[in-house]
Amino acid sequence: MPIPANPPPHVYTTIGLERAADRRRDGAWLARRRRDPESLVVALGGLRVLIADRPQGPDPFALDLRALGGEIPEEAIFLGLLDGRAVFALELGDEVPGAEVRPVELRALAPLLPARELGLLAYARALLHWAGMQRFCGRCGSTLRVAEAGHLRRCPGCAAEFFPRTDPAVIVLVTAGEHCVLGRSPRFPPGVYSTLAGFVEPGESLEAAVAREIREEVGLELEELVYRSSQPWPFPQSLMLGFRARARFSPLRIDADELEDARWFHRRELLDEGRRPVRLPAADSIARYLIEEWLFEGG
Ligand SMILES: [Zn+2]
Repeated sequence: MPIPANPPPHVYTTIGLERAADRRRDGAWLARRRRDPESLVVALGGLRVLIADRPQGPDPFALDLRALGGEIPEEAIFLGLLDGRAVFALELGDEVPGAEVRPVELRALAPLLPARELGLLAYARALLHWAGMQRFCGRCGSTLRVAEAGHLRRCPGCAAEFFPRTDPAVIVLVTAGEHCVLGRSPRFPPGVYSTLAGFVEPGESLEAAVAREIREEVGLELEELVYRSSQPWPFPQSLMLGFRARARFSPLRIDADELEDARWFHRRELLDEGRRPVRLPAADSIARYLIEEWLFEGG
């Protein structure tokens, strides 16, 4: 099963943005972009997307800070260039003086916004989450200083450096002929069954993490493992690495601490949406992609 060289990018992948990392140290250039009326600000409030009640342009989530009476503040993180315009991310908290905005969870916008905007919002959310969590030095406790336009935090006390984090997690569709394993975590919405997933632990390869997760959660030993594709998952800071695995069709031994239920499903049970015995995960997730990729390939 070859990996597609150009798989359609999953939702929350940054598209069309030039990260322009070399500009992160260019203070004079950044200062000009912060005053530039063409620059965009992706504003979040408590990591939720702030939708302007009266959009000021084609991007309903990009607030016009000049209309709020100011230039783009120092604490806004430089994301990159979109069609030549500088884009910044800013956490505004719950109150936005002078603007009527509605905070909306990013995942609720997934069915509504184009992929390019979702990718930008996901990038902003991940960085702003990190910035909010990484305020003090873990070694000496000093308040960290922001550097590299928000992409680095440096300790004035002991010179330690902290970079944005992405936590690798494996997510796996296990199949046996015409059957696949889907499980249900108590955290899922009612009726939803999904692929099995878990974080990679220190000192562990991706292959070992997949084998361990599947053994722990449903008691299966894998016979074959194939990497499929990956998805940034900024809830809050993961990278989902998607796999397909083959196992022998045998009874599942379910880890009751992790899963409420897990079952083998026949392809026929899942093919017809109207007759499915369970609900599949939301369309914005790589879990859904992995399931449908297998469901519709036939044979
Ligand atoms: Zn320190």
